[in-house]
Amino acid sequence: MQYIPNILFIIALAAGIGYFTFNIRKIIRNIKLGQKVDASDHKSQRWSNVFRIALGQSKMVVRPIPGLLHIFVYVGFVIINIEVLEIIIDGIFGTHRVLSTVLPTGLYNFLIASFEILAFLVLVGVILFWTRRNIQKLKRFWAREMKGWPKNDGNIILYFEMVLMILFLTMNAADQSLQSLGVAHYVEAGSFPISQFIVPFFDGLSEGTLMVIERSAWWLHILGILAFLNYLYFSKHLHILLAFPNVYFGRVVPQGKFKNLASVTAEVKMMMDPDADPFAAPDEDATEAPAKFGASDVMDLSTTQLLGAYTCTECGRCTSVCPANMTGKLLSPRKIMMDTRDRLEEVGRNIDKNGEFKPDDKQLLNDYILPEELWACTTCNACVEACPVSIEPMSIIMDMRQYLVMEQSAAPQELNTAMTNIENNGAPWPYNQQDRLNWMDEN
Ligand code: SF4
Ligand code: SF4
Repeated sequence: MQYIPNILFIIALAAGIGYFTFNIRKIIRNIKLGQKVDASDHKSQRWSNVFRIALGQSKMVVRPIPGLLHIFVYVGFVIINIEVLEIIIDGIFGTHRVLSTVLPTGLYNFLIASFEILAFLVLVGVILFWTRRNIQKLKRFWAREMKGWPKNDGNIILYFEMVLMILFLTMNAADQSLQSLGVAHYVEAGSFPISQFIVPFFDGLSEGTLMVIERSAWWLHILGILAFLNYLYFSKHLHILLAFPNVYFGRVVPQGKFKNLASVTAEVKMMMDPDADPFAAPDEDATEAPAKFGASDVMDLSTTQLLGAYTCTECGRCTSVCPANMTGKLLSPRKIMMDTRDRLEEVGRNIDKNGEFKPDDKQLLNDYILPEELWACTTCNACVEACPVSIEPMSIIMDMRQYLVMEQSAAPQELNTAMTNIENNGAPWPYNQQDRLNWMDEN
């Protein structure tokens, strides 16, 4: 009988970690549907990006207030989870505050005190985030693509974090009361700068009631953490985990440098060279033309772009600086990332059901992202610059445009005219090359 809580704990832990692993494997499988990317270059720069951007949150502090709040929540949430290690050991072996028996008293007290202060800061940060979303109603959280699930998701995660922090502090407060009553099993350990203010609410409660409160908060806290872990898969909060690989695999070439297809470049060079021989044997180094130009569905995108779709936090920093969006165009770079993830999830469900992908008469282009959105992009790179986790919505836009132009000849009329002029006149204007210097005659 006395081992029942330990057995229940082990079952809950195994179920929580097992289901999480099951879903993470699905995410990895889905990301691998994309085109392989060679990221073996610039290793030191990639690691430096991880430390600076993902761990150091360097891009978050560009907007200091939300940046600072986010650092509180992030650091607090990560460090408090050291406490989870103790909870897991206690849960499995039936001990209580086991780390207090192995760590020096001063260090243990310092750790518990730090966890409490961080928990309080997380609580403050989360309440302010909730206020910004729901009372202040910041424009970027109320955009067209933020209706329904994305809006609820943003709030659910905040409620989750509030409840977890309150449970943590309640558990410590009840523990203190039990320690001061000298109840067996509740060893005197820890320093409680925040939860000491909750203790007076427990005055006069019996030992049994206090134990029920402490055990309930303890169980709900760890079950809540396991639920949170599994909720990540369905949420934009996957960035807690994926920001690190996403930054590592992110852009290391200069901002704005376009990806050119060698086969197309060779073709254009030949077209522009009046001495070129169109019947000459291809260069030995010439790159084979790809089976398909650009991207019309998620499988045509790179693994990095698909990883970015799962990493997107839906913060809207990209959309808030997008000139096309600001001037009322349909384009929102955040929506490009959300649509890519939604379509990828749909493809994943198709594979789950059929064992392999069965064509479903849908694709990312048109069913999720409209050409009107793609052609509104000015390729200014502001979205890429603004993203705190190094996602590149613009690269997806460019790949899809490439598909429209090269596979479907479906560029807007203005572009078609400019491209025809380049082909015929070597410049985007409708003037014959021989007439170029006519303007000089007018002077
Ligand atoms: S690159 Fe395109 S999508 Fe990104 S901010 Fe500029 S216009 Fe908007
Ligand atoms: S792409 Fe980056 S900036 Fe845009 S919503 Fe996603 S995380 Fe935020």
